[in-house]
Amino acid sequence: MSYRGRFAPSPSGPLHFGSLIAAMGSYLDARKNQGKWLVRMENIDPPREVAGAADDILRTLESFGFEWDEPVLYQSNRLDAYQAAIDQLQQEDLLYRCFCSRSEIQALGIAGAEGVVYPGTCRTGFSLRDVNSKERYALRLITHDRPVVFNDSIWGAINQRIAREIGDFVIRRADGLFAYQLAVVVDDAYQGITDVVRGADLLKSTPRQIYLQGLLNYPTPNYKHLPLARAPDGRKLSKRLGDDPINSSDQITALLAALEFLNQPIPPERPESVGDLWTWAITEWDSRRIINNLDFTG
Ligand code: GLU
Repeated sequence: MSYRGRFAPSPSGPLHFGSLIAAMGSYLDARKNQGKWLVRMENIDPPREVAGAADDILRTLESFGFEWDEPVLYQSNRLDAYQAAIDQLQQEDLLYRCFCSRSEIQALGIAGAEGVVYPGTCRTGFSLRDVNSKERYALRLITHDRPVVFNDSIWGAINQRIAREIGDFVIRRADGLFAYQLAVVVDDAYQGITDVVRGADLLKSTPRQIYLQGLLNYPTPNYKHLPLARAPDGRKLSKRLGDDPINSSDQITALLAALEFLNQPIPPERPESVGDLWTWAITEWDSRRIINNLDFTG
């Protein structure tokens, strides 16, 4: 199958160095494999969206010489597809309504792979709330305790028992918004993505995504999770915190720093143009050089 990769930013702020690394890793891996590279704007969370950020991200990518092969897919145009996936899961009785508040879950849950494990309070249907009430509720997916195992090209074999480490997870939030885990799975399948290259902060989400792919009869792509860039004090960089927006006036320096971070060879002389830099980087790209020894749990 011919390679199809993607970069899937959320428009919650300008690109920072960490997102440049994800963009670069996915781009080089696609180009090296004569593949297609797509950009998907993950704008399904209006409360977290920053006005103008989506356009700003695309302009920045352009100025860095990234070229995407198909029109940008906006998740805000895909709501019917997410609802159709929910209908499919509902028909198989895999979803239930959850009325628990954040503080109730905190109080009952035990620490897991990502915050607290949802203890399954509403799963039995014997919740104290009236299921026909007008109260807001989230939809959660029933999970199981068999390990979900996959082989990440950079981190090796990863396994997670979702029920024990995460718990039944949210597919549609109480505010009516679709969850990232659902949207990303529906769209990776819709866009025929064969290879997902992204930051290791999502390593713990991948088993949930593979589990959903199985339930929805979608293929599972190959995964490469890139080490995370850290702020000098050790925090993960995030757009939300506005860390280290990349310097759009000196693309070559930023791209060289990203190449170095990914442990790829640096051209012996500074490239004269962004185009020259990409030609070099694509030829030299070898994902096996990436070092996975950074802590990604934070
Ligand atoms: N939109 C997600 C983010 O910006 C990334 C999704 C993905 O690559 O799967 O963190």
